[in-house]
Amino acid sequence: MVDGALRRVLARAEGGKTLNVTEVELLLAARGEDLARLTVAASRVRDAAMASAGRPGTVTYSPKVFIPVTRLCRDRCHYCTFATVPHRLSAPYLSMDEIVAIAREGAERGCTEALFTLGDRPEDRWDVARIWLDEHGYADTLSYVRAAAIRVLEETGLLPHLNPGVLSWSELTRLKPVAPSMGMMLETTARRLWSDRGGPHFGSPDKDPEVRLRVLEDAGRVSVPFTTGILVGIGETLEERAESILAIRRISREYGHVQEVIVQNFLAKPRTAMDRSTEVEFEEYRATIAVTRIVLGPGVSLQAPPNLSDPESLPELLAAGIDDWGGISAVTVDHVNPERPWPKIELLRRAAQAADLNLAPRLTAHPKYVRDAMSGSGRWIDPRLHNHIRALCDSATFLADPAAHPVGLPWQDPDGGLSEHGRVDLHSTIDTEGRTTDRRGDFDQIFGGWSEVADRAQHTAAGPTTTSDFAAAFRAAERDPAGLTDEQYLTLMTAEGRSLDAVASLADDLRKSAVGEDVTYVVNRNINFTNVCYVGCRFCAFAQRRTDDDAYTLSLDQIADRVREASALGATEVCMQGGIDPNLSSSDYADIIRTAKQAAPGMHIHAFSPMEIATASAKANVPVRDWLMQMKDAGLDTIPGTAAEILDDDVRWVLTKGKLPASEWIRIVETAHELGIRSSSTMMYGHVDNPGHWVGHLRTLRDLQDRTGGFTEFVPLPFVHLNAPIYLAGLARPGPTMRDNRAVHAVARIMLHGRIHHIQTSWVKLGIEGTRVMLRSGANDLGGTLMEETISRMAGSEHGSNKTVSELAEIADGIGRPTRQRTTDYRTDAVALSQAAG
Ligand code: SF4
Repeated sequence: MVDGALRRVLARAEGGKTLNVTEVELLLAARGEDLARLTVAASRVRDAAMASAGRPGTVTYSPKVFIPVTRLCRDRCHYCTFATVPHRLSAPYLSMDEIVAIAREGAERGCTEALFTLGDRPEDRWDVARIWLDEHGYADTLSYVRAAAIRVLEETGLLPHLNPGVLSWSELTRLKPVAPSMGMMLETTARRLWSDRGGPHFGSPDKDPEVRLRVLEDAGRVSVPFTTGILVGIGETLEERAESILAIRRISREYGHVQEVIVQNFLAKPRTAMDRSTEVEFEEYRATIAVTRIVLGPGVSLQAPPNLSDPESLPELLAAGIDDWGGISAVTVDHVNPERPWPKIELLRRAAQAADLNLAPRLTAHPKYVRDAMSGSGRWIDPRLHNHIRALCDSATFLADPAAHPVGLPWQDPDGGLSEHGRVDLHSTIDTEGRTTDRRGDFDQIFGGWSEVADRAQHTAAGPTTTSDFAAAFRAAERDPAGLTDEQYLTLMTAEGRSLDAVASLADDLRKSAVGEDVTYVVNRNINFTNVCYVGCRFCAFAQRRTDDDAYTLSLDQIADRVREASALGATEVCMQGGIDPNLSSSDYADIIRTAKQAAPGMHIHAFSPMEIATASAKANVPVRDWLMQMKDAGLDTIPGTAAEILDDDVRWVLTKGKLPASEWIRIVETAHELGIRSSSTMMYGHVDNPGHWVGHLRTLRDLQDRTGGFTEFVPLPFVHLNAPIYLAGLARPGPTMRDNRAVHAVARIMLHGRIHHIQTSWVKLGIEGTRVMLRSGANDLGGTLMEETISRMAGSEHGSNKTVSELAEIADGIGRPTRQRTTDYRTDAVALSQAAG
């Protein structure tokens, strides 16, 4: 029975079918003839992997030095001999000189990779680590790793590969500029091995599989070429092992960042808590390698550490499907397995030749990512590393050039971040000539695998039902608009027909009592200084590759010209935001502000979304607070509360792929408010979200406003779908309905009553009639004249990108309301306005 089932699954594997967890589990048990069939199928996939990597018939390895930055760790994995206690070490960390000396020796002896391996956040457990970091001026271990990576790049030319353990989205963003690749073993998804007393990961906070899966996903969101893997035989069942392999497959397909997967066999080492545990037999190990190879397919490199198996078994590992030996060192020992020496390269070569394969050195990042970087893209590898890579790579294969010798090179911003480039006329021609194509050049890859996203999109879009009674909720809102439960707000948010009319009417009354009849607007200009961006937000039709026909970047002179033009036309504010272009330098953001202030000293500078703040501060390696202070000193007045989309990570990860997590958005905006930098607040809705998310989002904004009082207004932004990738992929709704728009504006007015006084409505997205409806449903502000608007226009909005003051007045006039000009912070008196106009 089982044999029959196994044979059927084997046939499916041989036919390249997608396997489920039961099938993978069955294959893991293959032995004898079945295992032989399995490895034949796996070696076919291996050959396809080598061909698709541009190195047909070639097995690779990375010549490296191993730098054990610290052997202290806050975890206590029961099989580990790497982590130790302070009294066994002469110092908690290798010194900077020791690190550079190891790397220098590696450079002299033909290595190209500096592998930084270390314990996870030792300062959280060991005082000596914290004291050492303090004495040496580092906030934490990761700051030290970052600094050391830069020293290695500048003094030796070796390419860092960082293995610092669990990292957050922000930490990955901060480390990406100093390393072409990073890694963290998933090990296993079996949570019981972490949560149950006696399990190998019990007592190790960083070994919670949920945490490690989140790191794997975050690395994909931040587009870091990433190495991961499974540890085979630490007590997991075959089903759990199958689940681990499938988890890696899912994440790898969604983001395309998993460059190699290590299938590592557990070794029961003396003097560990697991010294009596049983190691997997070689047959089982081979089956695991073969199954992993088949499940992952040809897009990912597969590795088995050659020093953890007997030398004579290396050909069998190749036959089971591996195409890479990982890092090999002729200089340093494997500090994680010091008792297992690296094999000589000659031995690996002979093993490859026995299988009719070649052996070649590679760089720490695999060819597909190196090729991308050498084409000038900063998507996978930060431009500050491109010269280091160019010096070491073979320009035909994008593997290591065996004739190259690493030398230290400056680690610095590339030239030409803010120089004129591409369609700088797009801001005006978008209204007449339009975009060149409806999609960016890397449309098929930049947003990740759509099929992996589809299920989650369905899940997030499914709305909650409310059991709360409308009449009761409405009466409560009349009595105390800000005092409802979320369930009651949801009832109002989902109201239809007459009920919705009543909600809108209540919102209109509240608007009247809060801010009167005036419909306000600001005379401003949008300046989107670049649309080059590789974040891959799935709703965004604005961002382009640097080489795309519709890509552009403005020079500082062009920014200054546009600010002067705006000032001459009476603008009191410029709103400046751009794509997340890795070619921008750390100083560009302050330069943009200074340039604008010099061009029009009185102009209010409203600039940089929380996403820009997150990435620019990470690039500059300064805390967000310090970075914002620098911008404030340069002349920044307020920030747009954009990049919020929906402040719920389930929705964000479907909608945006790489954008900052909700918690980071909140942290950045809160920090800005604490520094006296006020902001707007926004919500983009009508895509893969549901009314429950809108209520949750408003609740988050409201709580933040209670803490800081820093929001000037709330701006509901209806999703513009026409050119939005997630809509083109068939996963998003075609924007909100008019019902949704009314409900969102009205409930925002009700829910934010007494806290955020101004509700803005977007004429760019809603058109004249739609805007009038919103002004009768709780909104009181029209936003800006804009003078130019490229983001919604690239997404397909047909409501223009510029309105004169009299056109704005006409909108309000149509519903019998007066208009009044305001400043960015809603002052309408003549003195404030003339001051703001400079
Ligand atoms: S929304 Fe912003 S961060 Fe996201 S892809 Fe577009 S330009 Fe880049």
